[in-house]
Amino acid sequence: MSYERKNIAQAHGYIPGEQPVDARVVKLNTNENPYPPCPGVAQALRSFPYESLRRYPAPTASGFCRQAAATHGVAMENIVAVNGGDELLRLAVTTFVEPGQPVGTVEPGYSLYPVLAELHATPVFSITRGADWAVPADLSERMNSAGVKLLFLVNPNAPTGTLTPVEELAKIAATFKGVLVIDEAYVDFVDPELKHDAVDLIRRFENVLLLRTMSKGYSLAGLRFGYGIASASLIGPMLKSKDSYNTDAISQALATAALAHRDQASESWRAVRAERARLGAELTKLGLRVWPSQTNFLLAGLKPSQGGGAGRVYESLKERHIFVRYFELEGLTDKLRITIGTPEQDDQLLSALKDLL
Ligand SMILES: *Cc1c(COP(=O)(O)O)cnc(C)c1O
Repeated sequence: MSYERKNIAQAHGYIPGEQPVDARVVKLNTNENPYPPCPGVAQALRSFPYESLRRYPAPTASGFCRQAAATHGVAMENIVAVNGGDELLRLAVTTFVEPGQPVGTVEPGYSLYPVLAELHATPVFSITRGADWAVPADLSERMNSAGVKLLFLVNPNAPTGTLTPVEELAKIAATFKGVLVIDEAYVDFVDPELKHDAVDLIRRFENVLLLRTMSKGYSLAGLRFGYGIASASLIGPMLKSKDSYNTDAISQALATAALAHRDQASESWRAVRAERARLGAELTKLGLRVWPSQTNFLLAGLKPSQGGGAGRVYESLKERHIFVRYFELEGLTDKLRITIGTPEQDDQLLSALKDLL
């Protein structure tokens, strides 16, 4: 006997990257930051008043929202705090999409989006990126004619690493008729010389929702904390549909400290960018095709002649306790997504690859 709704019974569910417990594993598969959270976060954890756990936390994480508003130069009413960026994605679907109305995705993208649509009993209309993973120029037009009410765009993109510039995003926001979710999970790793800052879009366009997470840039994937930045007309309805106490007191305190000490986290961003350049060059020397990346991972293409192809190399690396990500999805079966590790971890990967190829 099964009791669940029909669409839940049919749903496949999200397949997370493996989280091995073996400490020997060189873990380059789920885009975690290879460096620990900053000293400011450690201090906030040590001085957290444990007696205060008796009480419920601030329902909208107002202390955090004040800090986030100051960090980004927006008002508190432009921030919603969530239990990990993934909660914001779920909130966006349940708040802005009538079940049955299509959700739009640009592929390859984040594999959670179709899963959320499935749970919401809503179809997905997807468009494939063009040459070198560029967003098609007629994206809004095609989404509008398909009746899409919520469009997800990862930027910089996962798993390709591609950055779409702000002015191109503005064109999409201006022409798309629904809510445009720009998933900025990896934005902290963008080269500062590009001066990429999409926050201004929320002032120019009422329909833009930016996703930020503490998981990647701030080395806090275990904390589960993220936030949305948008016009008050998008934030208000999401505050109504979120769980009453969706973020806990400890995560609020630590996430606030992390943002307040952003300069400390940015040291790790610099290290990751330098290592991204080095690893990319080394993989290219080994004969892999590496796409330019503005994230903390690289997408690398392999020919079948190279170690039996991407799937085989993924398995062989795993046998050597080196985990990378392999997607059995259209356009990705000949590629590996490799998280930027420490120089030592990346050297282990490179020497294993030299062996295998
Ligand atoms: C990591 C990630 C998120 C959010 O992750 P959380 O850990 O839930 O904050 C959102 N989108 C993409 C594309 C990601 O890679």
